[in-house]
Amino acid sequence: MTEKRYHTIVVGGGIAGLTAAAFLAKGGSSVLLVEKNAECGGLVNSFTVDGFRFEAGVRALLNAGIIFPMLQQLGIELNVVKSPVSIGLEKEIMHVKDISSLEDYRRLLEGFYPGSEAEISEMIRIIRKVMKDMDVLYGIENPNFKDLRHDRDFLFKQLLPWLPRFLFTIGRINRMNMPVESYLGKLIKNRSLLDIITQHFFKNTPSFFALSYFSLYLDYFYPLGGVGRLAGSVEERYLELGGMIRRETVITRVIPGEHIVTDQNNENYQYDNLIWAADLKTFYRITDTRGLSKRVCMKFEKQKNRLLEKRGGDSVYTLYLGVDEPREKFGEISHGHFFYTPSRQGLGETHWSELNSLLAEGSAGNKSRMLAWLDKFISLNTFEISIPSLRDPGMAPEGKTGLIISILAGYDLFRVIDEAGWYKEFITETENRIIRVLTSSVYPMLKDKIISRFSFTPLSYERRVGSSEGAITGWAFTEPVPVINKIQLSNRAVLTPIPSIYQAGQWTYSPAGVPMSILTGKLAAKKISGA
Ligand SMILES: Cc1cc2nc3c(=O)[nH]c(=O)nc-3n(C[C@H](O)[C@H](O)[C@H](O)COP(=O)(O)OP(=O)(O)OC[C@H]3O[C@@H](n4cnc5c(N)ncnc54)[C@H](O)[C@@H]3O)c2cc1C
Repeated sequence: MTEKRYHTIVVGGGIAGLTAAAFLAKGGSSVLLVEKNAECGGLVNSFTVDGFRFEAGVRALLNAGIIFPMLQQLGIELNVVKSPVSIGLEKEIMHVKDISSLEDYRRLLEGFYPGSEAEISEMIRIIRKVMKDMDVLYGIENPNFKDLRHDRDFLFKQLLPWLPRFLFTIGRINRMNMPVESYLGKLIKNRSLLDIITQHFFKNTPSFFALSYFSLYLDYFYPLGGVGRLAGSVEERYLELGGMIRRETVITRVIPGEHIVTDQNNENYQYDNLIWAADLKTFYRITDTRGLSKRVCMKFEKQKNRLLEKRGGDSVYTLYLGVDEPREKFGEISHGHFFYTPSRQGLGETHWSELNSLLAEGSAGNKSRMLAWLDKFISLNTFEISIPSLRDPGMAPEGKTGLIISILAGYDLFRVIDEAGWYKEFITETENRIIRVLTSSVYPMLKDKIISRFSFTPLSYERRVGSSEGAITGWAFTEPVPVINKIQLSNRAVLTPIPSIYQAGQWTYSPAGVPMSILTGKLAAKKISGA
């Protein structure tokens, strides 16, 4: 039987795959999007439990000169609101409103760490410089989403004058590529202070990326109906443009020599072009290179070996709570996006060295030791708390509030606990501790008002979207990252060693996230269609 042949097959219906598919469909190509789950969106996804609407992945969005131009080019209108941020340490909570809030941040830190004023001042000075660089970086809409042939105004009045400043800024950014812990560690001698500033970043986050967060706090927005509306709106447009989606279909084999992909039921699909917009280790594991030239095979094997020895970055542990308290109660404390640390002490070596020693000595099954470690880990950590109904009241039943509470968490911890046979119990213990710590600090009303609760761990992300090590933003920041990590080279990020196969999404560029996933989706589509 001959299979239908598609101009392009896109594997993975996350935001990268959806973007690529929508732009190709807009150009008139026959496109099939293949998605493992029943719904698209991947890590850009919202869901409902007992009337509470929650985010499965990213909690709020950053335009970064990419998201709004992408929506505009696709003719999509998305209703959004600003998503302001609050930062809290013990009993002090500040609300980030504009650049002057940097002074509030300085005062907050100085109050907790007397004697470190000079170090704090120097860090604030560096953040100000980074913010200026960010203004350049995101100063114009990303040219990949502009029609440069027809939009002469943009080309001559915005893009060309901006380019020299961009290139100069890029040089500075690349020089700040070292891990934020070591960069700030040279400046800040007080370990607790250093922890409080850095512990909600992934391990080894490049300094520029981490220090740019103050700018990003000012730029967050939230789609009404939840972050998943972003992916939902691109999916709807793609379908309007005649695109096809094959859901609950897992691609288990790629045979480039025959231009075929195969699903879990051994069904074959033929393509002229393929965009792989899912986990890259999976792509390299399941691709059968028979029929390809020797040169291509050698390049493929080389890249495969590089990638398979690398790991995905940190993941998160997330606790979802339905609370029988009106949103106004929470709104009196913070905005809907809240970074809260209940103790000024800082995590110190708790997260990495102490945990790694416990795991290395095989203590995962030793419940009392692991729980003693968990006590410290939870009470000293920084929580990212998202309250959807403070941005859109329709996100929770009347008079009630949903909370999404997360901490950074390594995949290995949950994997070994699972292997030791007490995964569910460990999750309950983690939930109890988070609720206890937040009740005794920022939310005294919490404990007695919880009406529903459940959690996602790094294993949940791995199972749901097939992400290696449950990573939520692609590769770990350990040098050398196995993909392109310089913005001026982003065009090449979508190439694979195999002609007619392109890659897109969070595994193709580092550091990644929603904007880079969208950009690589667009770039992959552009390589195929030329537009
Ligand atoms: C808790 C959390 C917080 C985050 N915070 C931020 C943030 O603040 N800022 C930011 O920019 N980013 C953030 N991110 C990251 C961001 O959400 C992701 O980097 C981005 O959504 C990745 O999009 P993607 O399309 O590349 O991949 P994914 O969303 O992983 O999509 C891949 C898709 O491919 C499908 N798939 C996998 N394997 C197969 C297969 N074999 N066959 C068919 N389909 C397959 C999956 O089901 C999935 O739908 C966060 C993520 C999480 C989880």
